[in-house]
Amino acid sequence: MDQKVFKLIKKSHHIVIVSHINPDGDTLGSMIGLGEALKAEGKKITYINTQNELPLRFDFLASYDKIRSCLPKKYDLLISVDAASFDRTGLDNGVEVDISFDHHKSNTNFAKYPITDASMASTSLVIYNFFKKFSIKITKSSATALYSALAEDSGFFKFDRVNQDTFLIAANLVKLGADPTFIADKLTKRNSLAKLRITEIYLRKLELKADAKVAFAKITLEDFEKSGALKSDTDTLVNLGLSLATVVVSIFAYEIDDRKIKVSLRSKSDHIDCSQIATKLGGGGHKRAAGFTADIKEIDGIIAGIIKETIK
Ligand code: 5GP
Ligand code: MN
Repeated sequence: MDQKVFKLIKKSHHIVIVSHINPDGDTLGSMIGLGEALKAEGKKITYINTQNELPLRFDFLASYDKIRSCLPKKYDLLISVDAASFDRTGLDNGVEVDISFDHHKSNTNFAKYPITDASMASTSLVIYNFFKKFSIKITKSSATALYSALAEDSGFFKFDRVNQDTFLIAANLVKLGADPTFIADKLTKRNSLAKLRITEIYLRKLELKADAKVAFAKITLEDFEKSGALKSDTDTLVNLGLSLATVVVSIFAYEIDDRKIKVSLRSKSDHIDCSQIATKLGGGGHKRAAGFTADIKEIDGIIAGIIKETIK
């Protein structure tokens, strides 16, 4: 598979790379890390995210301001990064994905050539290993993006799947030009006041359930309006619930519009597989971090069901 993918990339000139909807650091960093290295190999690269609202804290990554929301009319190859299923790409039905780089156990093999390694802490590590295997040079801007993706998806080297190799690769990315302090400052020290305000609302609304083993909070459209926060300002709130000593599962929900609600699940128990729960509800993810979208009217029942299933 890897050989075939390398050959396809080698013979293509214009390559489109697509990051997933509700973009996070891994998908944006993987997209740019892949693209910047391939640019140095002489490729023409187009970066796509089908949504218009991109999290601002990634604005230091190369070509961040060149990310477009529509596919170009003509291209040779389409690669998706960090998307576990076709709907996560945000592409119109019928668009063919040639290659996918991913690290989700729940990957549905929607691409013609899927490269998935679920043992990796980030998709950017899957791309790093591919580069190493085929001696593709990692430029400074690529190393910065790949490191940023890893730092974000591993909670700065705290989450599961972080091991010796993770640090060895991180060290190598630093050697290639990624600056850990610069990246950490860019990623974590540029919050808006609105983000702190929505955090305050989250903390006020946080409830403990099932003998304080489950943390739950829901942010409404009104909360977004009151605080001025963006949807992307809520992406780390679920971890605050999980930080409580007694909590093993943290559930965080926010209203997308007046019909749909987004749910994030986090676990710190090896016995609770968030990916399994989310996949059953039409989403996906990893063992300790997963998500799905639901109908607003059904949310209370769904949350009660999750609590009942996880805390037996
Ligand atoms: P988050 O809760 O931060 O949105 O996502 C946690 C993990 O679950 C990420 O790896 C993300 O890709 C995955 N995930 C979140 N929402 C969905 C969803 O609706 N569908 C799928 N397939 N994966 C999701
Ligand atoms: Mn990821």
